[in-house]
Amino acid sequence: MARQPALFISHGSPMMAIEPSPARNFLAGLGAELERPEAILVISAHFDASALTVTGSATPPTIHDFGGFPDILYRQQYPAPGAPALAHDVAEMLVAAGHDVTINLDRGLDHGAWVPLMLLYPRADVPVLQLSIDSRKSADWHVRLGAVLAPLRDRNILIIGSGSMTHNLRAFFTEIPAIDARPPEYVSDFSDWIDTRLIEGDVAAVTALVELAPFGHRNHPTPDHILPLHVAMGAGGVPLHARRLHRSTTYGVLAMDAYAFD
Ligand code: ZN
Repeated sequence: MARQPALFISHGSPMMAIEPSPARNFLAGLGAELERPEAILVISAHFDASALTVTGSATPPTIHDFGGFPDILYRQQYPAPGAPALAHDVAEMLVAAGHDVTINLDRGLDHGAWVPLMLLYPRADVPVLQLSIDSRKSADWHVRLGAVLAPLRDRNILIIGSGSMTHNLRAFFTEIPAIDARPPEYVSDFSDWIDTRLIEGDVAAVTALVELAPFGHRNHPTPDHILPLHVAMGAGGVPLHARRLHRSTTYGVLAMDAYAFD
């Protein structure tokens, strides 16, 4: 049985579903480079819950959880099946590790899941489930959450943390830059620092990145879009072996970096 990596990917703006960019090209080619997984567990920035929740729907609907975008985005559907039996297994693993877990039978796939997945697996034929983050908990808590999930990789389950390497939406919406704008220094300095620490395997530094990295708070005024990196890193196991899969920015301020942990 194939052993899957854990991935961190940056999902950027929902426009990635329809708008050409280097990150979109990267994701569109990534599915073919991976062994076909049995199922995909997505930890998305857009599923932030105070009670740890696994989705258990057999037919998860596509959630259009964004506002003010072109109509065509609201017509996108990603009809991948869910994975109810796996949801129970994941919940059991988490309970055994001391978590309280809820299985939500109704929730569908948010755009942090379906936008990248429609590029990775456009046929929507690999079952998908989601696990929530809790942005009120620490980065370290999320690294440990990821470590609980690590054995799933040996069952050919692909774990994807879907967030954004940088995510200052105020900078984005104040004056939306051109999609191919050059990144400002506060974005590239931050991404460079993370890249060095990840390749060095410095889990402690990456865990504390908002405090330690240059412009950490400026790039992540709220932690929700970087916590999926922490979960993926935890799922990668010890010692940390990180590979950078992609680097680009969209609109200058959204770093689209992606990593594999294996
Ligand atoms: Zn997002």
